[in-house]
Amino acid sequence: MNFSRQITDWYRLNKRELPWRQTTNPYFIWLSEIILQQTRVAQGMDYYLKFIDHYPTISDLANADEQSVLNDWQGLGYYSRARNLHTAAKFVQTEYNGVFPSEYNTILNLKGVGSYTAAAIASFAFNLPHAVVDGNVYRVLSRIFDIELPINSNEGQKMFSQIAQDLLNQDNPAIHNQAIMEFGALQCTPNSPNCGECVFQLECLALKNNTISIRPVKKGKTKIRNRYFHYFHFNNGKEVVIQKRTDKDIWQHLYEFPKIEFVTEQSIEEMKIFLENNFSIQPSEYYVQKKHILSHQHIYCTFWEFNDLPENFNENWQLIKLSSFNDYPIPRVIDRYLEEKLKSKQQRLTI
Ligand code: SF4
Repeated sequence: MNFSRQITDWYRLNKRELPWRQTTNPYFIWLSEIILQQTRVAQGMDYYLKFIDHYPTISDLANADEQSVLNDWQGLGYYSRARNLHTAAKFVQTEYNGVFPSEYNTILNLKGVGSYTAAAIASFAFNLPHAVVDGNVYRVLSRIFDIELPINSNEGQKMFSQIAQDLLNQDNPAIHNQAIMEFGALQCTPNSPNCGECVFQLECLALKNNTISIRPVKKGKTKIRNRYFHYFHFNNGKEVVIQKRTDKDIWQHLYEFPKIEFVTEQSIEEMKIFLENNFSIQPSEYYVQKKHILSHQHIYCTFWEFNDLPENFNENWQLIKLSSFNDYPIPRVIDRYLEEKLKSKQQRLTI
């Protein structure tokens, strides 16, 4: 089998035309790779185009304020990616005079960049011989070579990296890496691989051994943590109360309504008693949102609406004009709540 030739021939015929494939600018490639972590291409595209428009150079990104960067990221989730982008841009600006590093180890040192992303930037932008190993690559290799080792074990990761590196076309690592990832995304997909028209039909050991559906192997499953957020939407028609999330947690540095969090579900009756004991005013309505799913957490949000401002103000709360609310980056759950509030009153429950 000439793996690299077969896969790159397939790629030339089948690849999608994507804007970050038309450039060797390492800054643009880095942006696209960070945006595409945990995000589908269709969703990430608009964000990529927005970022290269708003911040055409890494210096523009470094000089922007964090609030603008988070605002532009809004809706994409996993906000640590945006904070890391901004931190890394400032680092490149001060340490390398705004010139994106061109060596694998220096790229790997940037905040938010792991071995996959460093290999992607090094190969796509500088044609350096570093093999990428992402979810697509794990799947393709585990099937073609019918590998049983779990991809989330140390031993498995070492083995897959070694195989990927051994297969890499040293003369054209950029196209080879693009090809294997695209092959995983379009041809050898998780649930419906197109084996009937596959260039590896004769060589694929998982096809031969009928093990496709159990490749790749992943050991254990991460435990899901349930979190119950009760948001207090204090709003007198002109002003609204918000607070900044400062803890090392999801949505760090974003803004939200004041809230209390529980580790177990509270009934509406229990919450009403809590509200009576803690606030000078009482809510007029409440709204129970559908659960919000993150990779290791399920967030259950209930929004309590107050038509006035409370007397007892917590020191972390900020009173802002309603007209300036859009200037603040907010988590998707708040955004969704406001959209739903505008759209329909049906699910809203009067106290
Ligand atoms: S034959 Fe099927 S499982 Fe094997 S590489 Fe091709 S698409 Fe993937």
